[in-house]
Amino acid sequence: MGVHTIGDLLLHAPRRYEDRRTFKTVRELSLGQSVTVRAKVVAAGVNRFRSGKTVFQMVLDDGTARLHCRWWNLPFLERVFSVGDDLLVFGKVHSLRPRTMDHPETEKVMADDEEQIHLNRLVPVYPATEGLTQRVLRGLTWQAVERFADLVPEMHPELKLVQLSVRPAVELGGRQLALEAHRLPPRSEAIRQVHFPGEPWMADLARQRLALDEFVTLQRTIQRRRRRLEANARALPCSGDNRWMRTFLARLGFPLTGAQQRVLKELRAELGGTVPMCRLLQGDVGSGKTLVAAGAALMTLESGFNVAVMAPTEILAEQLYRNFRRWFEGLGVVVELRTGSRKPDEPGGLLLEGARDPTKETPILTVGTHALIQPEFLPKKLGLVIIDEQHKFGVAQREELLRKGRYPHLLVMTATPIPRTLGLTLYGDLDVSVLDELPGGRKRIRTHVRPPSALPKVWSFVRTQLDAGRQAYLVYPRVDESEHDEVKAVTREHARIQEQLKPYRVGLLHGQMKSEAKDQVMTGFRSGFLHALVATSVVEVGVDVPNATVMVIENAEQFGLAQLHQLRGRIGRGGHEAHCILIAAEPTPEAEARLKVLVGTTDGFELAEADLRLRGPGELVGQQQSGAPDLRFGDLRWDRDLVELARDVVRRGFEAKELS
Ligand code: ADP
Ligand code: MG
Repeated sequence: MGVHTIGDLLLHAPRRYEDRRTFKTVRELSLGQSVTVRAKVVAAGVNRFRSGKTVFQMVLDDGTARLHCRWWNLPFLERVFSVGDDLLVFGKVHSLRPRTMDHPETEKVMADDEEQIHLNRLVPVYPATEGLTQRVLRGLTWQAVERFADLVPEMHPELKLVQLSVRPAVELGGRQLALEAHRLPPRSEAIRQVHFPGEPWMADLARQRLALDEFVTLQRTIQRRRRRLEANARALPCSGDNRWMRTFLARLGFPLTGAQQRVLKELRAELGGTVPMCRLLQGDVGSGKTLVAAGAALMTLESGFNVAVMAPTEILAEQLYRNFRRWFEGLGVVVELRTGSRKPDEPGGLLLEGARDPTKETPILTVGTHALIQPEFLPKKLGLVIIDEQHKFGVAQREELLRKGRYPHLLVMTATPIPRTLGLTLYGDLDVSVLDELPGGRKRIRTHVRPPSALPKVWSFVRTQLDAGRQAYLVYPRVDESEHDEVKAVTREHARIQEQLKPYRVGLLHGQMKSEAKDQVMTGFRSGFLHALVATSVVEVGVDVPNATVMVIENAEQFGLAQLHQLRGRIGRGGHEAHCILIAAEPTPEAEARLKVLVGTTDGFELAEADLRLRGPGELVGQQQSGAPDLRFGDLRWDRDLVELARDVVRRGFEAKELS
């Protein structure tokens, strides 16, 4: 389990606690409740079914009533338990006639048990592994705590504990006492209490104390990196002179939102400042981040420096390339595209608009995918690096691109808002700008959840939208669980839908198509030649076709919340009301909760917080994201206050020169 030393053991966090000071009697048990009871085995045996399945059953009695416990397909349990055993069982009562628990956790009470460790107290229950019982692990931990906890030193002297108190992070059964803020204990005391707490609130307080140490460690790394950069780097003057900006803004055909104006002002100040910009641009889907990025790029180009823009997919890179080309037309800027399949010197990969003055170096804006990280890409005078959909890249990739210049400015953009806690930990070394306003004229997106049986109605609705001249996205994650070949599945769906929507033209888009083919389909859809698009989640990021007003997402229960929000953001970009229809077949309770959140709000900032709570940080951050913190006690879902506390403590430590 990765526990090699006594130190590891002391930091092996319990996953829950059991209150063994008083037990409920079997007679008192109520339905659906998770409880521990203590009772003796009065009967046990295995039933074997013709299907090959087995069920091991035990009947327990505590003197007040009998409790049946059942385990499926674990026949060896027959050798583990015997009639007469004194047992503790923890589980949920799922029926009262007879009283039954399925697959409860069990622990045998031994005659020689030291009561102070295993009984008559709050006992820790640990993540364990086969062959290692809770009793053994608990006994070892007890010894380690007794003998060594007092030797554990403080990690962070800048944590002046006397000044810090915290509220409970989790609901502790509404105990009045727990609602008060408590002074944090020293680290050694916290280790003792996290394993063998006197009261539940003490365990919570101890966990928060140890979590705070973790967050402080993390913040030290983050803030040190930032401070080093600020001390060493000289910023390039990239705030521009407005000579192209005016034309660019005038030609857009719409005014910037107030938020876009405010953020552009922030960026201009930083691009002209003394320290290289390191900024995260957050904004909901459709808030117009690309335009802000274009503005920052233009300031840099006006200043005579080059710009690199990296996007996670070819589709997105090509779309950015197309936008920048259109926006910067005639300004005398070179816009080039560099992806896995396109080099700037190939047809379609490079565009020089307007007259190129041979006496001057023409500033270059390069848009690309991961190809920008390759050694062949050697930009000169790199002034600004922009990374779109940052969550698809790791910190290492970001750094690699930055190293192609001498302290260029950095602007990273997120696909959807990220919860504040994650922002402070994953992007803690970045300043944040927020686009908290959507461009005007956006119509509401209505979201509906429907079972597969409603599909005929859904198709006729899609048809009415196509009849009205609108366009539709039809999204498939994977058609069924057993389908390993996603491409085959989506191709088959495509044929079916084409038939369904005749005579409308339906395109097909998936990640494994060649980039020319993808391009052709996207061009067809953008121009309105294709009326509908069957796609895998490749349309998730960035794709922008304002005339599309319907999105049907099949097997919606298989997608995460952020992804569904990002997908849904593809519609409602024009002046027509939009509909997102989520088809869900027998969603799990979690999936159902997710879909419900989605129906309830279109606010990405709200969704981000809900998503973090539902799925936890690991999932949210994604596998590609390196630098995701490894936390034993901290929990990014609930510990926002601690993360902020850690950030402030560390900042003060640096400012007071207690840290360096
Ligand atoms: P995202 O923030 O999701 O990346 P985009 O940058 O793709 O959003 O912008 C979404 C759409 O809104 C694009 O079609 C863009 O041209 C348009 N847009 C951006 N800013 C404005 C604005 N101020 N007024 C009207 N439309 C805008
Ligand atoms: Mg975008």
